[in-house]
Amino acid sequence: MTAFDFERDLEDLRSQGLLRRRKVTDSPCSPELTVDGRSVVAFCSNDYLGLAAQPEIAEALASAARKHGVGSGASHLISGHHRLHEALETRLASFIGMERALTFSTGYMANLALITALCGRGDAVFSDQLNHASLIDACRLSRATIHRYPHRNVAALADQLAHSDAARKIVVTDAVFSMDGDIAPLPELLRLCELHDAMLIVDDAHGFGVLGDNGRGTLSHFNIAFQDAGLQASAISRVACMATLGKAAGVAGAFVAGSDKLIEWLLQKGRTYIFTTAAPPALAASVIKAIDLIEQGDDRRTRLNNLIARFRETLRPRRWRLMDSVTAIQPLVIGSNAEALHVADNLMDQGLWVPAIRPPTVPAGTARLRLSLSAAHTEAHIDRLVSALQRAESDAGA
Ligand code: PMP
Repeated sequence: MTAFDFERDLEDLRSQGLLRRRKVTDSPCSPELTVDGRSVVAFCSNDYLGLAAQPEIAEALASAARKHGVGSGASHLISGHHRLHEALETRLASFIGMERALTFSTGYMANLALITALCGRGDAVFSDQLNHASLIDACRLSRATIHRYPHRNVAALADQLAHSDAARKIVVTDAVFSMDGDIAPLPELLRLCELHDAMLIVDDAHGFGVLGDNGRGTLSHFNIAFQDAGLQASAISRVACMATLGKAAGVAGAFVAGSDKLIEWLLQKGRTYIFTTAAPPALAASVIKAIDLIEQGDDRRTRLNNLIARFRETLRPRRWRLMDSVTAIQPLVIGSNAEALHVADNLMDQGLWVPAIRPPTVPAGTARLRLSLSAAHTEAHIDRLVSALQRAESDAGA
């Protein structure tokens, strides 16, 4: 007898339709993939602009690795901070229009560092109910008091802020919600933060590269600008923006951008910045190339938006519910775990790879297909997807 009965625990997961299984891909990230030995069209990746397999980015990585080697050898604060990391920070800050930026190995680590560096016991965080797991974990780790507010509900948040007497208040939100595809009301959140002397932390993992002028992200989408006359200077110190570099940018890693002082504080206090080996400098060189392609990527963004419109106009589900999303994340809510899994299997049989997302990633009873579209898809891919979904819906009894 042991307290660690993994066989029983795994069986419990299996019986609830919650056992996860990895599929092995054997091709670069693109819509047409070889997976578990067969060819499929995939609607799974966050490679929204189709940059993950771009030869110019791969070449920037390879040539920087040839020149500078691979490993950084140490953390940033010891000896791992290379001229290429420095160049990337400068490029990211000027691209997003903030005073300064700091890079991290992953978005998960960036969120952990940011929230734990900004608040602790006696402080309060106000977190959208549908925030990403990394934000939820970061809030817990901070030991601040956590207030979850109903999804995108500005009035409820205003009420919570007004009733809080915490020393420091921080509002935390996904900019584009990762499993719903909808967009946080950032201007209203920022206004509330100004009113209540709170900080606003924006996780722009799914907006950076896709939304806003030249793909600058969701703050730009709302015309929230810091280096021109858009907002009062005080707003600069009120916002910290995290974005990932493994989604639209097609590489890996993440950054936090904000005021000079905030970034300096994060560098001093961000534990997942301080106590980890710096990413390979060559990776920074490839991200700089990716930012160039994002900046010049209006054609890719237009193509993506046309594909989103085509998908939404043609699908028109009856039994299932297509969520109200204008972004590349197009969730189709099925309901039960078993039905969502069954539909994903049915699509796979038709050569289409679509992930079924189940609790705890989404609330119970809202298992869904998370269809993510990319500028690298073609109209023919979208049409094939729509026909297959319509067939699957008819088979399910619609
Ligand atoms: N925030 C959001 C909203 C995300 O969707 C993700 C990744 N799924 C992350 C943070 C974590 O980023 P990374 O994958 O770079 O760790």
